[in-house]
Formats: sequence, structure tokens, C-alpha cells
Amino acid sequence: MSSGNVIAALQVALPADRIRLGAEIGERHHTDWTRMDPQCPRALLLPRATEEVSTMLRICHAYGQPVVPQGGLTGLVGGAHPQAQEVALSLERMNAIGEVDCSGGTITVEAGAILENVQQAALAADFVCGLDIGARGSCTLGGNIATNAGGNHVVRYGMARDNVLGLEVVLADGSIVSSLNKMIKNNSGYDLKHLFIGSEGTLGVITRAVLKLHPQSRSTQCALLALPGLDAALQVLRQAKAHLGGGLSAFEVMWPSFYHFVTRLPGVDSPLSGDHGLYLLLEAQGSDEAQDAERFEQLLSGWLEQGLLEDAALAQSVEDRKRFWHLRDAVAEFPVFLPKRSTFDVSFPLDGMAQAIAQIEHKAEANWPGCTRLYFGHLGDNNLHIVIDVPGTQGAYAESIEELVYDCVGALQGAVSAEHGIGRKKRQHLGRSRSLEEITLMHTLKRALDPLGILNPGKVL
Ligand code: FAD
Ligand code: ZN
Repeated sequence: MSSGNVIAALQVALPADRIRLGAEIGERHHTDWTRMDPQCPRALLLPRATEEVSTMLRICHAYGQPVVPQGGLTGLVGGAHPQAQEVALSLERMNAIGEVDCSGGTITVEAGAILENVQQAALAADFVCGLDIGARGSCTLGGNIATNAGGNHVVRYGMARDNVLGLEVVLADGSIVSSLNKMIKNNSGYDLKHLFIGSEGTLGVITRAVLKLHPQSRSTQCALLALPGLDAALQVLRQAKAHLGGGLSAFEVMWPSFYHFVTRLPGVDSPLSGDHGLYLLLEAQGSDEAQDAERFEQLLSGWLEQGLLEDAALAQSVEDRKRFWHLRDAVAEFPVFLPKRSTFDVSFPLDGMAQAIAQIEHKAEANWPGCTRLYFGHLGDNNLHIVIDVPGTQGAYAESIEELVYDCVGALQGAVSAEHGIGRKKRQHLGRSRSLEEITLMHTLKRALDPLGILNPGKVL
């Protein structure tokens, strides 16, 4: 069938307001957070129910029409970025949040629901949603699951994958696979949801999900710590896991270049004095304020005695805690202060982290003397974020900087994507983190689920 008729076929099958064309689409849908190469898609589809997603995909499949699923468009790798000949399918109108099942501790949600609204619904029922990322006010649960999003509290609650119990998905040919399981244990054959979690819209469109919720914590302990270096941080991490158990909720490490950069920004101040080898934002949650505070302070004193800490600022109030997090969250200001920077979201085995940073430091300084290099990350999850900026060059060396970092990732058995996914941006680097056999199996799965290749072409593989 000629793909020219696909729009007419969609218009016949669906109510008029489900399809937008041309200027009606709105520039928001032309790209994602990367702002890469904005393109107006052929049409924007706005389903209101799973059956409508099914109709849309059935028709697109019949016409061989490529489709780009879109959520909140906060993705950082161009996963939701459309091409001019593609149709964008936005889940934004499918944003219903169902009742919390208090006995099992689950919530069933439509894929277009904004993460922050899901978090609030969980809190209102005295639970906590394990997923939390900086883009919470704009990203959607479907996007979070499609990218297997991480965030600041992965060390306690895991990634999106660890928080999903059931999924409803529409396949490329329009078939609906409803697997809204609510049970922790269900080994009845393959656990199909895992195929779609982290598949970045290439294997199916997620329409609904069941999330596991967690009991609310009654106390939060937070400290900003100065350490002599990475070895000390790794010892602190081991001991924190052992002594705080599942209560360890954030282990955010900032290298001195990052710390000094952000504490020079307007409105960001340092509660610590002097220069140190490494800075750590440590947070723990528990159920008994007095006991938790005592245990946390004992841990810090022990580390001071062992020489693992050089200075410590303990949050005494919610304001202190916000101030400490503000320092870490100052990355949100980077687009203003370093508009042409190269940014990386990579992982390294913990025992290779120091070598990785030393290699990148050495090569970056040799190639671009005096360039800005900032390192920070969720160390507890192996995740390192890197920012490199060569002042005055308007990003001219972006490709060489990418080669430098991803060469190092490949050589040290790291991951080219820790939490943001592959999308369009990292596609050519996938082979540095995955073997030929792994990539061949990914292609086999893709062909089995989407034989015509209409779902998010040019992404991931
Ligand atoms: P989109 O950007 O719209 O889409 C992302 C991908 O998912 C695309 O490939 C798209 O095709 C696919 N997709 C979207 N919805 C569906 C669906 N229903 N079915 C199938 N496929 C779908 N990420 C982290 O992991 N951790 C962080 O800490 C983090 N912090 C961030 C902070 C900021 C300020 C910003 C801007 C981004 C951050 N991100 C982070 C990245 C981003 O927010 C996540 O990748 C998020 O999960 C994307 O959700 P979204 O709804 O915006 O998806
Ligand atoms: Zn991150």
C-alpha cells in the first residue's frame, strides 16, 4: 500500500482531534531535550486509550509507516526525535492515574502520566514511588520505563526495571499485550515486560504499567562530606551499605573540579572549607528519627577516626538538606554557563573508575590544555557523569571528545550509556559496550517483534 494514503486511513478510523498535521503539531514535538536537528513529523497522533494506540499502529503497520513514540520529551539521547517522514505518537493524553492498591502496595498508571503526579498519588496513599529523576515535572512514566530511567535514589529503590511489576504494550502490528501483573512472584514462563523496559520505543508502545510502591520513610539523614580521594569513597560506600542496609538512599560523588565550579555559581555556597580530594553527598532513610540520627552520626565519627573523612557538614534541617542537594543539582545551570559543553553518562566497574578518570584527564589535557573537565555521579551505581568544555571553540571538538571518552569506556569494559539510553545520539557507540553476539540477538528480537521496522527506526540499533 502507498504510504501516501496512511494519513487518510488514520483520519477515517479515528476522531478528528486525534491527528494533527503541519503547523498544528507544535514545535515541542519536533525534537527532545537534546534540541538536536528539529524536524516536523508527518503527523502527530494523540490517542486517548489503548485501543486507539492499537488502531493507529495497525494502520501504520499496514502502510509501512514509521512511528516515533513520544512521552514528555525530556530524553537526553534523541530517542523521541522524529524525522520528517515519520509519524509521532504522543501518549500525553493517556495520563490517568488509577487507585493505589494498598494491600499489595501497587499503583496502575497510564503511560502518559507525569512522574511527579504519580509520586504525589503514591504519597497521598502513604507510599513512596521508587522512581525519581530531575525531570520529574515533565517526563512521563512511559518514557521512564522505555528508557529504564535511573536517578538519585537507585542505590535504594533500583532503576525503573526494579519498580515495574506489570506492563500493557501495543506491538508494531497493533496487537495489545496486556500483562498488568501485580504479584512479586510470577515465574509463569518468560517475563515479557523486561523486553520492553529500556527498549526506547523500538519494540512496542507502552500504554499502561503497574508500579511497585514502597513504604514511606519516617526519617532522612543527610550530610555533605569531604574525603581524601576515591579509595576512601569506595571504603565509605562499602561500610555505608553494610551499616545502613537498605536505608542508604543517595551516594552522590563530586570531584573537586565539579565542586569548585558549582560553588562559584551565583546562589550556590559551600558548607565545607578547604580543598579536598573528593566530595560526597550522603543520604540515608529510615523509620526512627532518633535511632537513625544516632547511627548516622556514629558512622561519620567512625570514618573521621579511620581517616576516611577530612570534613563533614551534617544537615540539621530540611533547609540544610535542600542546600546540599542544590549544590549537586546545579548541573541544571550548565546549559547557561557551558552552552557548548560535551556531556557523558557512562558507567565503569568500581575498580576501574580511578583509572578511567586518570586516562580521560591525561588525554583531555594533552589535546586541549586547560579545558574544563567536571566529574560527578551516582557512584553507588557505577554511574559517572562527565562534562568537557574547550572554552572559546564553540563545541568544535565535540566529535574528538566523544571518541576520547568512549574509547576509554570500551577499553575499560564500561557502559556507553548508564541511565539515559542509546537513542539516536549514541547508536554508533553501542558496539563499544555490547558484543557482536549481544547485538545480533538484539536484531533478532527486533525482527521478531517489528518485522517491518516501523517502530522508532534509527534508534538504539
Ligand atoms: P521521551 O524523551 O519522550 O522519550 C524517551 C524515549 O522513550 C524515546 O526513545 C521514546 O521513543 C520512548 N518512549 C516514550 N514514551 C514511550 C512509550 N509510552 N512507549 C514506548 N516508548 C516510549 N534520566 C535518568 O535516567 N536519570 C536521571 O537522573 C535523569 N535526570 C534528568 C534530568 C533532567 C533535567 C532532564 C531534562 C532529563 C533527565 N533524564 C534522566 C533523562 C530523561 O528525563 C529520561 O530519559 C526520561 O525517562 C524520559 O522520559 P520522557 O517521558 O521525557 O520520554
Ligand atoms: Zn544521573
